[in-house]
Amino acid sequence: MNPVSDRISTGSVAAGPATGLRTPVSAEALREVMAQFATGVVVITVGGEHIHAMTANAFSSVSLDPPTVLCSVAHSAVMHRAITAGRGFGVSILADGQEPLARRFADKKRTLGRAQFDGVDWRPGEHTGAPLLSGALAWLECALDAGLDSGDHTVFVGRVLGAGRGTDRDGHGLLFFGGRFGSAPRGAVAH
Ligand SMILES: Cc1cc2nc3c(=O)[nH]c(=O)nc-3n(C[C@H](O)[C@H](O)[C@H](O)COP(=O)(O)OP(=O)(O)OC[C@H]3O[C@@H](n4cnc5c(N)ncnc54)[C@H](O)[C@@H]3O)c2cc1C
Repeated sequence: MNPVSDRISTGSVAAGPATGLRTPVSAEALREVMAQFATGVVVITVGGEHIHAMTANAFSSVSLDPPTVLCSVAHSAVMHRAITAGRGFGVSILADGQEPLARRFADKKRTLGRAQFDGVDWRPGEHTGAPLLSGALAWLECALDAGLDSGDHTVFVGRVLGAGRGTDRDGHGLLFFGGRFGSAPRGAVAH
């Protein structure tokens, strides 16, 4: 794995954290509103001695040059400790037939360690060793570049070390919308 920066910030941008600012928006209200924002679904993974997988939809590209992406992970999640310790992560962008994998890696009753991948087809990423799930539409491998604590989550920014697509170029994406899984067909070209 490539060397990564030790720079894990815990502060915010120049404006500073909005500490002391009271908001009337409850967690339930925010969940309900954000559920109207349709997203894809990914499985974040860490390999090696911290091997672990977690379903996520708080995932986005950040920068093209250098290429970076982000994922937001709850402080309470095992994945939080895995990324912090492993200093990198893999991302499998799920196809619409992979809802069972999304449910599996979001199940709080699943076993930990390598056993959580029993019966799951995957290969270790060449840059990070992170498990990359077979059948995914695309994959990324990232070195941990920065972490920004915000409330009960940390936004992890990853420098993209490798990225690729699966062989099914026409496959539909797995969608998460309104608290439900669905299928996102390929539409018309946007430009
Ligand atoms: C569509 C979708 C999108 C989601 N998006 C996100 C997202 O963007 N970000 C996010 O953070 N979550 C997200 N989640 C929720 C997340 O997938 C689940 O909360 C998931 O279970 C968290 O995974 P985890 O293994 O890292 O942590 P946990 O579920 O907390 O832990 C997994 C297992 O480890 C056990 N365990 C925990 N701590 C210990 C310990 N110290 N010793 C031994 N065993 C322990 C637990 O009992 C459990 O069996 C999403 C879920 C769904 C369905």
